[in-house]
Amino acid sequence: MERNGVGRRDFMKTTLAGFGGLFFLSAADKAPEEKLIDVKGKGRKLVYRTLGRTGLKLPVINMGVMNSDNPNLIRTTLDSGIVLLDTAHAYMQGRNEEVIGSVIKGRPRDSYYIGSKVSLPQDRTTGRYIDGATEAEFLKKLDLSLKRLGIDHVDILYSHNVSHRESASYEPVLNAMAKAKQAGKFRFAGITTHTNEPEVIHAAVDTKFYDVILTAYNYQQKHVAEVRDAIARAAQAGIGIVGMKAIRGGYRQTPSVKSPSAALKWVLQDPHVHTIVPGFTTFDQLDVDLAVMEDIRLNDAEKKDLQKEASLPGLYCQGCRECLGQCVARLPVPDLMRAYMYVYDYRNLAMAQDLVLSLGLPSGVCGECTFCPVKCSIGFPVREKIRDIVRIREIPTEFIA
Ligand code: SF4
Ligand code: SF4
Repeated sequence: MERNGVGRRDFMKTTLAGFGGLFFLSAADKAPEEKLIDVKGKGRKLVYRTLGRTGLKLPVINMGVMNSDNPNLIRTTLDSGIVLLDTAHAYMQGRNEEVIGSVIKGRPRDSYYIGSKVSLPQDRTTGRYIDGATEAEFLKKLDLSLKRLGIDHVDILYSHNVSHRESASYEPVLNAMAKAKQAGKFRFAGITTHTNEPEVIHAAVDTKFYDVILTAYNYQQKHVAEVRDAIARAAQAGIGIVGMKAIRGGYRQTPSVKSPSAALKWVLQDPHVHTIVPGFTTFDQLDVDLAVMEDIRLNDAEKKDLQKEASLPGLYCQGCRECLGQCVARLPVPDLMRAYMYVYDYRNLAMAQDLVLSLGLPSGVCGECTFCPVKCSIGFPVREKIRDIVRIREIPTEFIA
């Protein structure tokens, strides 16, 4: 059966090791499309893979630009051999796309790829689209993104932040994307998910509409086996797979992430993942990524570290949504926990504030409850973290941007 499994052959190549089904592929296992390519003038050989049926040849790590508005870092990244810049209409309230636009200005259009994302209003609790989620709004946002970037098309256009299977086939989005594609405004249709990923990935495959899926995937996900199976099914259907959130806890070493490069390699050992887009923000972190791109094999010490870390609770929400519906005030707990991660992991206050302000929260959040019935599946003290993160509403936006 293909739908819910990666097949006997894949399973036999996998060693299930330790807590939570943390798996390592055997050393002999190699994606058939993987190859080494020289980066001109740098004397480097980076590992490349093909992004499914798009045919795009990409190094196994590209840049998630979301946390960086440093043009010099983006410029150096492109000069180092990374070719795909991943951004979104909403990042930094548009400044992220503008900074990228300033960097790519004058560069040959075939020397880089741009992936951007457009989102429409959703009910944060159910993940379903709400009033205002129209075809016209989607197209208006896309046009503004192209203007900020200073180009007439992006290479991958994603429907952003989908968390419910019905939203993967929401007609206004599909119609808008079909029209935009016909008008030459993007090349490949994509969808992104960092909550309820397995359901969304399976739904995206079923639409037969998307060429690329960008999904959260890391060794600390509670439901990592389901995510892995869904990714395998999508890749086998010819869809390009881009991974994000490979490093829980970010590049900084934390009690639960000792080796960021091992966390990146763990995702890349999965041959169904074609590239990942970590959100690095410093030149040192770029160097970590370049070293991984030259040799993606996990050594024994790294495997041991990962096994140990997989058994730790982790520092951030896994987006499993098991807490949904438990809050008496119907707060969108996973979104609030994501905002918490933006502050304490990504150190991206602007993105956290944007998210919190978009949630339409009441004024005295959690103030009326004497007891919190929300039980997080990995034991987060949800109320404590919510009370902490909602304070970001009070910081003047000009102090954050
Ligand atoms: S304390 Fe906060 S999170 Fe818990 S039930 Fe009350 S409003 Fe919801
Ligand atoms: S807060 Fe806990 S239960 Fe809720 S989505 Fe995050 S990890 Fe899952």
